[in-house]
Amino acid sequence: MIDLRSDTVTRPTPAMLETMMQAKVGDDVFGEDPTVKDLENKTASIFGMQAGLFCPSGTMTNQIAIRAQTQPQQEVICDQRSHIYLYEGGGLAYNSLVSVRLLNGVRGILSPEMVEENINPDDAHFPETSLVSLENTMNKGGGACYTLSQIEAISEVCHKHSLALHLDGARVFNALQATGDSPAQYGEHFSSISVCLSKGLGAPVGSVLVGSQDLIRRARRIRKVFGGGMRQAGYLAVAGIYALDYHVKRLSKDHERARVLAETLKKCDYVTSVMPVETNIVIATLKDITPSQFLSQLEGKGVKAVAFGKQDVRFVTHLDFTDEQLNRVVDVLKKLDRQPA
Ligand SMILES: *Cc1c(COP(=O)(O)O)cnc(C)c1O
Repeated sequence: MIDLRSDTVTRPTPAMLETMMQAKVGDDVFGEDPTVKDLENKTASIFGMQAGLFCPSGTMTNQIAIRAQTQPQQEVICDQRSHIYLYEGGGLAYNSLVSVRLLNGVRGILSPEMVEENINPDDAHFPETSLVSLENTMNKGGGACYTLSQIEAISEVCHKHSLALHLDGARVFNALQATGDSPAQYGEHFSSISVCLSKGLGAPVGSVLVGSQDLIRRARRIRKVFGGGMRQAGYLAVAGIYALDYHVKRLSKDHERARVLAETLKKCDYVTSVMPVETNIVIATLKDITPSQFLSQLEGKGVKAVAFGKQDVRFVTHLDFTDEQLNRVVDVLKKLDRQPA
């Protein structure tokens, strides 16, 4: 089976597993796991940030970042398709007691003007705006990326209005690879960044939240109360270190393969359109066939993807998807029968 449902489906490579077997570990809740500390410091320093916090998931790093940079009754600005809003179980309201201002960006990409227009005035009727959260790459926008100048301009708006600026960087290295920007440039503009290790980077588990010393100190207390303190987590952290060392540059391969899939889909008679492909996500809109019909035909031919909205399907390329598999998928897509309406 060729699994293109998500870049989370990857398994550790033999070399990664080897490093996991060798990891030096201790009890990280006692602050005694040297490998967890190495991962936290390494990730922070890549982004030019002071400190990092290793967490079990990207959802947890996002939720902690929101909790640490808001007070109950305040408001968070984000795109309406954001992971923090759509796919984190209502955690904004549940964990942080905040409201949310949903914007309609271009493929999920916000402009500085939209952000500024949606900051509430200082008036007791309105919730106080305190945090802006961007997603890069933008999952629901087909893996769309921000340009550095867009990020700079939004960061300026945040600075002017004393707002924190969080980055949901579940696929931040895909964005950096595609744009050629440096992680340190992102570190200058965001107050916190969630860096996912278990998506394109291919580690089995984990995300690191990076930010200032003070933010991460508060984040550590929140992680504890969320139940995210982990003991001999060095076995997992070392997989993240390995991924940062060896699995970043190769992301451009995933991007190339995604472009080939998109070109193939565009020519299929059961596809009306394909979102522009910038990274490793391909979203196609179907016609005369429902996503569930399409996906079951596809699965019958040994390929998995996911439904992504009413008429859309999503394919995500990743570390375990080879050129040989790409050729097979292209073949399957070309031969898929069009269902009668
Ligand atoms: C996957 C993802 C996350 C975090 O997901 P976890 O499964 O909790 O690690 C956050 N944001 C985006 C955009 C994602 O795609």
